[in-house]
Amino acid sequence: MGTRDTRRIFKGLVINPLAPDRVDYYDPGYLVIEGEKIVRITADDPRWEFPDAKFRDFNEKIILPGFVDTHVHLPQFAMMGVGEGELLTWLNTYTYPEEARFADPAYAEEISTTFFDELVANGTTTAAIYCSIHEPATDIAFIAARAKGVRAFIGKVMMDRNSPPGLMEDTERSIHASVRLFEKWDNNDGGRLRYVFTPRFAASCSISLMHRVGQIARETGAFVQSHLAENVNEVRWIRDLFPDKPSYAGVYDDAGLLGARTIMAHCIHLSAEEINLLAKREVKIAFCPYSNQTLRSGTMPYRKLQDAGLMISLGTDIAGGPSLSMFEQMREAIRATAMTPTEALYLATLAGARSLGISDHIGNFAAGKDADFIVVDVKPRRKAEEALSTLCLESDKKCVVEVYVRGNLMYF
Ligand SMILES: [Zn+2]
Repeated sequence: MGTRDTRRIFKGLVINPLAPDRVDYYDPGYLVIEGEKIVRITADDPRWEFPDAKFRDFNEKIILPGFVDTHVHLPQFAMMGVGEGELLTWLNTYTYPEEARFADPAYAEEISTTFFDELVANGTTTAAIYCSIHEPATDIAFIAARAKGVRAFIGKVMMDRNSPPGLMEDTERSIHASVRLFEKWDNNDGGRLRYVFTPRFAASCSISLMHRVGQIARETGAFVQSHLAENVNEVRWIRDLFPDKPSYAGVYDDAGLLGARTIMAHCIHLSAEEINLLAKREVKIAFCPYSNQTLRSGTMPYRKLQDAGLMISLGTDIAGGPSLSMFEQMREAIRATAMTPTEALYLATLAGARSLGISDHIGNFAAGKDADFIVVDVKPRRKAEEALSTLCLESDKKCVVEVYVRGNLMYF
């Protein structure tokens, strides 16, 4: 099939995020794609130029880049919206028993398939994902991600202390299983799949485990993801567990875990020194406002982190967060920090791509990027600018009409 046959033009209100304070509107706009890639967006009807292209008119509907979720727990998908209490109680009561079920590959397969279907149905086409401690279940998650065609950064959770019996790992086994998965999956599917070393958080990992992961990350350039300073009681516990360390962030730094390819979720209860340390190491921050609100963890000091120069993106953190929808994360981010809808959209798309080092490939509608986009139906509006605030404040999964991953219609 020649490229002429694979050219397509989609017409609608095209919204293109460019920076925290800049978004372009094309009303109406035309998104031209060729095969899996974006050719251009334009306000001028390009049909005369591409007479053979297939044309699709979405009328008043909105065309947006696919969302990037930089913090989500796949094995907690089935318990979304379940449970109450703050972080540590919630983990022990609801989360750990559910994650233990992933020892069963059949269960892992069922949930993984549903998870990626639902992720895409919500308009998310790239995600950084935590699995359970189980190597086969993590393998299954990669297979499910590849089948769906999404970009996914996936890691087997590592836990070798302070964990329930069914989820307690031997240190060496945890490292070996992670390295096997890294070697098998990192850069698989044309680089769309990446492995992320995933020590759960400092309380459930020994110092020797964290040091080994830090060493591997330095040697291989691998990605690392973990949790940092989510909850006051968690921070106290870390202080008790590591009395000779200067701070929570300092625990990770001593282990060599902080770097430009590290994504730390939450970062709510941090000192000025810790914020400076994270900025110096170029750590990426996953802001999970809906989860923080639901688990009553507190509010991430967004402006402070941003002023320190940190790159911040959005995560759903299901099941701490009760929704896989990035629309709802944008809404909660606006409520928690008074950021603008333009900024919220940037966090949900291009900032996520930048955090994961893939903004050459996804994140907005620049020419040559993957044709990952979603079509959204919101109520009538007067101006294009109003559509964005409606999207952020009143939309959810139900507004998503179609989702394209690399030009393929994957949800409708
Ligand atoms: Zn989390």
